[in-house]
This record gives sequence, structure tokens and C-alpha cells, in this order.
Amino acid sequence: MAGMPRGFGDNLTGAEAAPMLRIQQTRIREEEGVRKPMKIGFIGGTGLYSPGSDEHAEQLDVHTPYGDPSERIIHIQRDARDFFFLARHGIGHRILPSEINHRANIFALRKLGVRTIIAFSAVGSLREEIRPGDFVLPDQYLDRTKRSADHTFFGRGIVAHISFAQPICGRLRSYVEKMVRRVCAGQSDRVISGGTYVNIEGPAFSTPAESNFYRLIGCDVIGMTSLAEAKLSREAGICYTAVALVTDYDAWQQAYASDSVEEIVKVLSRKVGLSQRIIQAIMDEPPDQSDCPCRHALDNAIVTDPRSVPEDRLAELQLILPAQFLQPIREKN
Ligand SMILES: [Zn+2]
Repeated sequence: MAGMPRGFGDNLTGAEAAPMLRIQQTRIREEEGVRKPMKIGFIGGTGLYSPGSDEHAEQLDVHTPYGDPSERIIHIQRDARDFFFLARHGIGHRILPSEINHRANIFALRKLGVRTIIAFSAVGSLREEIRPGDFVLPDQYLDRTKRSADHTFFGRGIVAHISFAQPICGRLRSYVEKMVRRVCAGQSDRVISGGTYVNIEGPAFSTPAESNFYRLIGCDVIGMTSLAEAKLSREAGICYTAVALVTDYDAWQQAYASDSVEEIVKVLSRKVGLSQRIIQAIMDEPPDQSDCPCRHALDNAIVTDPRSVPEDRLAELQLILPAQFLQPIREKN
């Protein structure tokens, strides 16, 4: 953690300390953190491996109970605010969608104090009117992954069921849409508000039969990564929204069924500069950081009696567990 600013909580997982003691220490730091400006995280997808500015940037090695994130996290300070950028597939694009350790990625950002994530990802279009080059801000998801058990911090002795009726933070999405429209103003790039993102496992793209099925059941864009981030962010009390960049029509559009990765990367590379300008605009004029229901998603979601939760799990999850959940344990001790 060379270069890590103080108070970012890298000592949260020391195995030598008693778990109960560590919980109390963490809560104190969390409560202190409420009075500080919230921190904003960006996740870059295919083609987007840096925020486009290296001013005051440092790279952080962050470790989590779930392993290490996809890449070292870039930390930028601007106007006394902290911004973080994580390349979802690693620099050089080394990690398959199904190999991404989403839990480590989201936990690492949360550990750095991030309570707002804006995530960029490449998608295919399932609608004629959603064209390659468009930006889409989805507001619903359909889960076609095969690893959904990995898309939660819970299990192994502690059960929680978050509400996911509104999987994207509406307030954050409205703000990001405004910023994307501002950057795209006067250009040919269109911005589409809302839509259902079907998250497939990959790594192969869909067959035409699959693609037409997703169209039939109301999906608008197709991708391989965003849903897990949205679920884990909600569990971690982080406001999350996705900016999806359409690279191609999916396989339903027969004329595009033979699109190669090379073609898709070509579209993306034209848009990387625009995505980086969006990030810069957000850093210049950050979103409202006042409290949000997303940050309280666990308040009434944990079913397990806190006194029944294994101590090692309490230690792992202490960063995201609500204070009222931990209260009976404090009283017991
Ligand atoms: Zn929110």
C-alpha cells in the first residue's frame, strides 16, 4: 500500500487482532468517514484502461478478504477530492468476464471509502434504434450468468437478501446522464436513457437464436460484466450506475453476426477519448454526495441472528455491516 493516504483502512483485515476488537475499531473509522467528502470510483471496461489524466495520480495495491482486484487502483486527487479508477479486465485486458473477481473489485473500492461508482462497459445492441456508437444508461438487468453465487458478499454463515427492484441508483444515473449529454452535445454521439441490460456469461458472443430470445423478452443491450457490480455495490452500500457504450448490433442482426472483436475494438477506440472526457467532466463537477437509500440497503436485509454469525465472517464483512446489526454483538462483549 505504498503511497496510501492515511485513514483508508488498509489495516482492517489483520488476522492477529481479535475480531470483536476489529469491528469496534472499524465502526469508529466509518463513523468518522461520514463527515468527510465521499469518494468516487470509476470502473473502466473494454478499451478504457485509464481515466485519461495522470495529474496527482498514484497507483494503489489494495487487498481484500476476497482476493485482489483486477488491477492496481489509480488514485487521483483533485480540488481536495479523491477519485479512484479501476480497469475491470486489468491493464492489457488479461481477464475474461467470467474470471473477473467482482467481489474483490467492489470491496477494494469500498475499502478506499468509495460510496459512488460510475462504471463504463461495452455492450451489443438488441434494438434497431440503439446504434453502434450510442451511449446507453441502463436501468434494469436480466441475469443470464452462471456464477450468481459469486455475486454476493454473503453466504458461509450469514444470509442477506437485498432489495433489487431498482438495481441502479436513480439519482446517480440522472446526474451521469446529464454529464454524458453535456460532453456529447453538438456531436453525433447519442445518449439513450434507460433500458434492460442482459448479462450473459461469455466469453463467446450470442447465437442469433439467443439474441432473438433476449429481444423477445424485452432486453435492449447485452453485455458480460455490469450486473455483478450492481449487485455487489448495493450490498456494499455504494451508489452504482453504468454507462454502456454500444459497439455493435448483436447476432440477431444478421448483417452484423460476423462482427469480429477487431471491428468492436475499432468502434471502442474511437470512443475512449469521449469516455475519458466524461470522467474528467465528472471530476470537475462531482455528483451530489448526500445520503442515499443505496447506502442503507443492508439495514433490513440481513436475516441471520448476529450472534450466530461465525467470527471470521464478521471480521471479513465488518466494513459493510450496518451498525445496528453489530449492536447485539457489542452488547454481548
Ligand atoms: Zn444511490
